[in-house]
Amino acid sequence: MSRFWSPVVQTLTPYTPGEQPQMQRLVKLNTNESPYGPSPLALAAINQQNTDDLRLYPDPEGAALKKAIADLHGLDPKQVFLGNGSDEVLAHVFLGLLKQSKPVQFPDITYSFYPVYCKLFGIDYQTVLLDSNFEIQTQNLKTPNGGIIFPNPNAPTGRAIPRSDIEALLRRNTDSVVVIDEAYVDYGTESCIPLLRGSAYPENLLVVHTLSKSRALAGLRVGFAVGHPALIEGLERVKNSFNSYPLGRLAQAGAIAAIQDQAHLEETSKKVIQTRERLVSELASLGFDTLPSTANFIFTRHPKHAGAKLYQALRDRGIIVRHFKSQRIEEFLRITIGTDEQTNELITALKEIL
Ligand code: PMP
Repeated sequence: MSRFWSPVVQTLTPYTPGEQPQMQRLVKLNTNESPYGPSPLALAAINQQNTDDLRLYPDPEGAALKKAIADLHGLDPKQVFLGNGSDEVLAHVFLGLLKQSKPVQFPDITYSFYPVYCKLFGIDYQTVLLDSNFEIQTQNLKTPNGGIIFPNPNAPTGRAIPRSDIEALLRRNTDSVVVIDEAYVDYGTESCIPLLRGSAYPENLLVVHTLSKSRALAGLRVGFAVGHPALIEGLERVKNSFNSYPLGRLAQAGAIAAIQDQAHLEETSKKVIQTRERLVSELASLGFDTLPSTANFIFTRHPKHAGAKLYQALRDRGIIVRHFKSQRIEEFLRITIGTDEQTNELITALKEIL
């Protein structure tokens, strides 16, 4: 790397997203996308976006999309912040909000982008170990005048904690910002968004969502955060200092229609949950230990077969899952819930391998 880069940039080891192979015949169960398409209404809205309009800048406020999100969740549009995927929302949260919070705490293990943002933006952070069951113990998260962030359900474990635990965490940490990353909330986890309704909601809670998972629009790049208008106002200032357009026209149009099609979300999430339960029980009969998951993926290990070996043997059979080389979790595989057919292929392959 060129010597003109700062030492911080030279030492960055950014999170590498899961492989995106172009080969159609691969069974791709490695990046937690939805196996079902997005809402047909979203596709129609994207197609209907008049191509003539693409020469015009998009709405810099994203007002219609903010209203659609606010209406869905019973909030005020002033409580909504938009970004190109929740990763960009999180980058603004770290740079604008958590940078002031020293230190920031998050669990170990968790979404691996959090330490990357901390290093990039020069933010002090502390990690708090999960317990021996890979659960987050919220009473161990305590950082006066700091920041706390974790996904619920957690990634890559898939384990969730009840909303009441987060309410208690908020009460214990009124001087800290608490950010809950609900990327996978729609597969059986209690959302914290209801805590933001009404008038007496906490000023230190921010909830981050994505349209990449249950709304099946990972390619469109839409995410959002909801919280107190005063928190949102700061995020808007940070964003406007980079780029005043939150999202392109196609993304705004598609996201509005997707948000309004709750029936599609419910139907596809239900199918994912059913397939997840079947996969967990089939894996159990093959001797796997799987953590309880309320996500669209599972975290599983086999007492007699190393994670790296299983990963490679599946890869050789055209099935891609996720294997993390980090200590403590190297024996695990993270497997995205696919269609029923993909799940059958996975089980057949595992029977061959074991
Ligand atoms: N948070 C968590 C916990 C994730 O696993 C992901 C997906 N890798 C994201 C946020 C980011 O998703 P996106 O940028 O597609 O919204």
